[in-house]
Amino acid sequence: MATLFTKIINREVPAEIVFENEHVVAFKDIQPQAPVHVLIVPRTEITGLAELPESGDHQHILNAAKEIASQFGLTDGYRLVINQGEAAGQSVPHLHAHLLGGRPLNWPPG
Ligand code: AMP
Repeated sequence: MATLFTKIINREVPAEIVFENEHVVAFKDIQPQAPVHVLIVPRTEITGLAELPESGDHQHILNAAKEIASQFGLTDGYRLVINQGEAAGQSVPHLHAHLLGGRPLNWPPG
């Protein structure tokens, strides 16, 4: 059974895709928490960070984050978040990083 994000990657579920390459697809979050809120998702179906192999897609996720931040003009800064597991708020079991920016971001996040 494909994950929601695989369905988005396969264009079976609509989303506003803002970046893609052979490794990752990035699209706007449906419930944005900042003016820029993009999800960066590896094409490979990995449940979460805990399942990411040592030779996995981390470099591709980070490279995409830098490029998308530049694309959206986030010169003042931005945040990259991965929620691992239900206790951390992960709701979709397909590894993804949230790229947030376009407003001041408090720290600690709470
Ligand atoms: P997480 O809670 O870290 O698993 O993040 C999942 C994110 O996916 C949430 O921020 C949701 O708003 C977002 N989301 C859920 N369904 C969709 C969708 N169809 N298109 C875009 N973003 C979605």
